[in-house]
Amino acid sequence: AGSGKFFVGGNWKCNGTKDSISKLVSDLNNAQLESDVDVVVAPPFLYIDQVKNSLTDRIEVSAQNCWTGKGGAFTGEISVEQVKDLGCKWVILGHSERRHVIGENDEFIGKKAAYALSQGVGVIACIGELLQEREAGKTFDVCFQQLKAFADAIPSWDNVVIAYEPVWAIGTGKVASPEQAQEVHVAVRDWLTKNVSAEVASKTRIIYGGSVNGSNSSDLAKKEDIDGFLVGGASLKGPEFATIVNSVT
Ligand code: PEP
Repeated sequence: AGSGKFFVGGNWKCNGTKDSISKLVSDLNNAQLESDVDVVVAPPFLYIDQVKNSLTDRIEVSAQNCWTGKGGAFTGEISVEQVKDLGCKWVILGHSERRHVIGENDEFIGKKAAYALSQGVGVIACIGELLQEREAGKTFDVCFQQLKAFADAIPSWDNVVIAYEPVWAIGTGKVASPEQAQEVHVAVRDWLTKNVSAEVASKTRIIYGGSVNGSNSSDLAKKEDIDGFLVGGASLKGPEFATIVNSVT
């Protein structure tokens, strides 16, 4: 971990019921969490209100997506205004499932990021390469292109956390090694230095996501440029998520 405050997000994806979420919230409320860590959970939209009404204020709430602008005639979408109205401080954008399963592109994601920031909602900006891109030696190119799309769209990085999530590591149980993750995090920071500013490069937290669990998080957290985690599967288990939050050394 570097000098920025450690940041751990739990992405619950499209999982849960009123009952299972009530149990998860109660486990999180009972967990001992290191004080010097920003902790955020991202429930499915339908359960955000339930979570906000029952979860300790110690943990902030994020949306998993949002619309590109002000709400209106956009059937099935959720606006940033609505996300804010329910008390969310963050939104996850550019997640690989939205890029590769739903088909969102860089420009669309950039618009969402710009609008969310304009409304005071922080952005967890996800980037990451596919397995075939890594094997073709294109990891940095892909990550830099996705970063550039965010950089071109947003006026400031003040309220942005970058999540490096290699797609081959998401939900596969194949975690990146601490060295593999660190290598990309350093490259991302260098890119920010060269293309944004040295200040943004040193201040912006770069978190890792992809099969993080209670057993591998402390080794990853030791790396200088890993400033936290975005956790999928293991965030559905309160005690394990707490272990990951507390893995900062
Ligand atoms: C994610 O979806 O952001 C993620 C990292 O998932 P998992 O931890 O399940 O690999």
